[in-house]
Amino acid sequence: MATGHFKQGIAGGRLSPEQYADNFSDLHPPLDHHEALVESDRCYFCYDAPCMNACPTSIDIPLFIRQISTGNPIGSARTIFDQNILGGMCARVCPTETLCEEVCVREVAEGKPVQIGRLQRYATDAAMVENKQFYPRAAPTGKTVAVVGAGPAGLAAAHRLARHGHDVTILEARPKAGGLNEYGIAAYKSIDNFAQAEVDYIISIGGIDIQNGKALGRDYQLSDLTRNYDAVFLGMGLGGVNALRADGEDAQGVTNAVEFIAELRQASDLASLPVGRRVVVIGGGMTAIDAAVQSKLLGAEEVTICYRRGQEHMNASEFEQDLAAANGVTIRHWLQPKRVIAEGGKVSGIELEYTAMDGEKLVGTGERLTLTADQVFKAIGQSFVPAALNGSGALLALEAGRIKVDAEGRTSLPNVWAGGDCIYGGDDLTVSAVAQGRDAAESIHRALTSNGRA
Ligand SMILES: Cc1cc2nc3c(=O)[nH]c(=O)nc-3n(C[C@H](O)[C@H](O)[C@H](O)COP(=O)(O)OP(=O)(O)OC[C@H]3O[C@@H](n4cnc5c(N)ncnc54)[C@H](O)[C@@H]3O)c2cc1C
Ligand code: SF4
Repeated sequence: MATGHFKQGIAGGRLSPEQYADNFSDLHPPLDHHEALVESDRCYFCYDAPCMNACPTSIDIPLFIRQISTGNPIGSARTIFDQNILGGMCARVCPTETLCEEVCVREVAEGKPVQIGRLQRYATDAAMVENKQFYPRAAPTGKTVAVVGAGPAGLAAAHRLARHGHDVTILEARPKAGGLNEYGIAAYKSIDNFAQAEVDYIISIGGIDIQNGKALGRDYQLSDLTRNYDAVFLGMGLGGVNALRADGEDAQGVTNAVEFIAELRQASDLASLPVGRRVVVIGGGMTAIDAAVQSKLLGAEEVTICYRRGQEHMNASEFEQDLAAANGVTIRHWLQPKRVIAEGGKVSGIELEYTAMDGEKLVGTGERLTLTADQVFKAIGQSFVPAALNGSGALLALEAGRIKVDAEGRTSLPNVWAGGDCIYGGDDLTVSAVAQGRDAAESIHRALTSNGRA
C-alpha cells in the first residue's frame, strides 16, 4: 500500500479526541429492541414484495421483517444469511435508498420507507453476537477450490462452497481478509472492527483456509491453481485507479482516494493522521464522497468535490450527496481538472476547466477556475489490473477491461469462475459482489458434482 500521502505531513486543523470519536461514530446507530419492533410493524408484508426484487441477493425481506415483529430475530437472521452470508456488512453499507428502500411501498406512498437496512442489522447482529451457526457442512466431497481474493465476492463464494462440502483455500494478497470491507468502506459505516468479526463468523463454518500475503501473478500463477485445484474462483476486485489526465498530477499531495481511505481504515490513532487544510476531491462517486467526508471529519478546513458533469449524473446517491453537504463539503459540478499547480514539488492548487454538453458529448468550454489546495484526491474510478493474470499460459478473455463471464460466472477458461468488481457487467456494490460469489459457487458445485449428485 502506498503511504505517500501521510509521509508528506500535511498539517490539518486538529480536533480533540472526543471530536474524533464523535465524528467517526456509527453513521446509522443500531435499533434497540423496542425500535425494531415498532419499525417492523410498519411493514405491509407485501405479496410479490418490490423490496425483495430490488435486492441483488434476493433476501426474503417481508419474511425476515415478520420474524422480527414476532420476536424471532435469530430466525430472521437465518432468512437473511440463507441468501447473503455478508448480510451484516450489507446492512451497514448497502445504498438501500437506491435499492430495497427506494421501491418500498411505504416510500412510494408516504415518502418514508420501512428501514430495511437497519432491521437487517438488528437481526444479523443478534445472531452474530450469539455466534449462531446455521449451516452444518455437507459430507466432504474431496474436491478442492482455490479462491483468489478475500473480499465480499471471494468470502461469499468460499462459504457456499464450504457448505457444500468442498475444501476451500482463499489466497489473499493483503495482510488482512475482507477486501474493501476492511480497506475501503467509510470508517463510520463499519465501526468496531466489524469487517474482521464478519470474516471470523463466515469461516467458522470450517473448511476454509485463508492464506494472506499470497498474490496471484507474484507468488503463483493461474496455471498453478488450475493444475492443483479442481476449480478456481477469481474475486480480485479492482487494483488500478484512473489517472486525472491533468498536467503535473505526480506532485506531492496528489493522492489516490482509495489509498487514503485504506490508510485511514487501518490507522490506530486518527488524531495522528495529517490531512490537508484545503482539500479538493476529483470525482462523482461513492469514493469521492467518502474521501471528502472523511477528510472533513479528520479536521480539514475546506473540502470541495469537483465533478465534470451535473448533479443528476453523479454515481453517488442523493443520500451520499446530502451526507457530504451535511458535513460541510462543497460539491461543484461541470468542472474538469486541467493542471495541478505545485510549489517546490508540492501541490498548492488545481486549475479546472468548466464543461458543458455539446449534444451527446461533454466538452471543455475553455473558461478556467483555480482552487487553492494542499491536497488533491483522485477519485475518478478504479480499473481492473489484468497483469496478475499473465504468465498463466492461456489468457483469460476480457470485456471492456474486466473479466468476461457468462450468466453463471464462468470465464473463458475451463474450471475458472469469477465474480465481484473484477467482472464485466457488475455495478460495483458489496451486495452484488456477494450475489455473484454465491452464484458462481453454486455453478462450481454443480460442475464438480454432476449437478449436485456427487
Ligand atoms: C472507497 C470505496 C467505498 C465504497 N463504499 C461502498 C459502500 O458504501 N457500499 C457498497 O455497497 N459498496 C461500496 N464500495 C464498493 C464495494 O466495496 C465493492 O463493490 C466490493 O468490495 C467488491 O467486492 P470484491 O470482492 O469484488 O472486491 P474487493 O472488495 O476489492 O476484494 C478483492 C480482494 O482481492 C484481493 N486481490 C487483488 N488482487 C489480488 C491478487 N493478485 N492476488 C490475491 N488477491 C488479490 C484484494 O486484496 C482484495 O482483498 C466502495 C468502494 C470503494 C473503493
Ligand atoms: S415493500 Fe416495504 S412494506 Fe412491502 S414488504 Fe417490502 S419493506 Fe415491507
